[in-house]
Amino acid sequence: MDCIFCKIIAGAIPTKFVYQDKEVIAFRDIEPQAPVHILIIPREHIASLAEVPESKSGLLGHLVAVANKLAKSEGIAERGYRVAINCGPEGTQGVPHIHLHLLGGRQLSGMLG
Ligand code: 5GP
Ligand code: ZN
Repeated sequence: MDCIFCKIIAGAIPTKFVYQDKEVIAFRDIEPQAPVHILIIPREHIASLAEVPESKSGLLGHLVAVANKLAKSEGIAERGYRVAINCGPEGTQGVPHIHLHLLGGRQLSGMLG
C-alpha cells in the first residue's frame, strides 16, 4: 500500500479526522492554502476523478454533501467557499487518491485563489 491517503485511512499515518462515515473521511490539509482547508476522500481507493465510473456517481454527490456539511460546521457556509478536485498531471493532482479540497475563510481569487 503506497498510497498516502490509504495509509491515513488505515491509521498508519496518525491524522485527526474532522468527519468520518462508512464511505468517506475528511481531514485538514497538511499545507493549508486558506484558514479552512480540508480534504474529503472516499475510503475506497479510486485514483482520480477520471476513474470514477458512472455507476459510482452517487459517491461524488456524497463527497460534495460532506463538503457542504463541513463548510457549515467550519462557519464558512454563509461567506462562501470553494470545492475543488484536481485531476491528472495537468490538473495538478499530486496524490493519486481522489480528494475534494474544501477551501475558505478568506477571500479567494482566480482559479487557484
Ligand atoms: P492535490 O495537489 O493532489 O490536489 O492535493 C493533495 C493535497 O494533499 C495537498 O494540498 C497536500 O498538501 C495534501 N497532503 C499531502 N500529503 C498529506 C498528508 O500526509 N497529510 C495531509 N493532511 N495532507 C497531505
Ligand atoms: Zn489510496
